[in-house]
Amino acid sequence: MANHLYQNDLPDGLNLGPVVAIDCETMGLNPHRDRLCLIQMSGGDGNAHMVQVTPGQDAAPNLCAMLTNRDVLKLFHFGRFDIAALLNAFGVVTAPVYCTKIASKLVRTYTDRHGLKYLLQELLQVDISKYQQQSDWGAAKLTPAQLDYAASDVLYLHALRKELDKRLAREGRGDMAQACFDFLPMRAQLDLNGWPDQDIFSH
Ligand code: MN
Repeated sequence: MANHLYQNDLPDGLNLGPVVAIDCETMGLNPHRDRLCLIQMSGGDGNAHMVQVTPGQDAAPNLCAMLTNRDVLKLFHFGRFDIAALLNAFGVVTAPVYCTKIASKLVRTYTDRHGLKYLLQELLQVDISKYQQQSDWGAAKLTPAQLDYAASDVLYLHALRKELDKRLAREGRGDMAQACFDFLPMRAQLDLNGWPDQDIFSH
């Protein structure tokens, strides 16, 4: 159980396995204004691998090879945001993907609390602190508290997916979820290309 911090890209030859949990920290919520600062990843083994991005950086070959590898499933919580941030920063469309927030909305119809903190509490009895969420992710040197917080956003996504998959199967909504995951990279592209709030399916 360790945090590994890298500068600009994943190291050569690092294989995180067939299912990689990913989360991004940025300077804010507007992808056109707010730069990408940190990408956290985990293969589901309790270790977190984090790549710090420098201002103006627009390439990360090892990271992008993994993001676009069709044999690697990328696991997100609210992937719509992260996929757009990664596309905006590096010009690559992340796929295939799974999103725990979408899965939650399809099965936990008894609540509107679909934040990661609530999901981890209810499904895994894990408590994570969100205290560092609004901190300066653009700092050249991130604090141990920031890195621990950043890691906690990816360390439990594999276990969470397992629980959500059970519920999707129980409610007969697995196919619906898969179709939504397949569409998600395009939803992120619509966000970047001028349709951030519009429902293009509405009348
Ligand atoms: Mn996060």
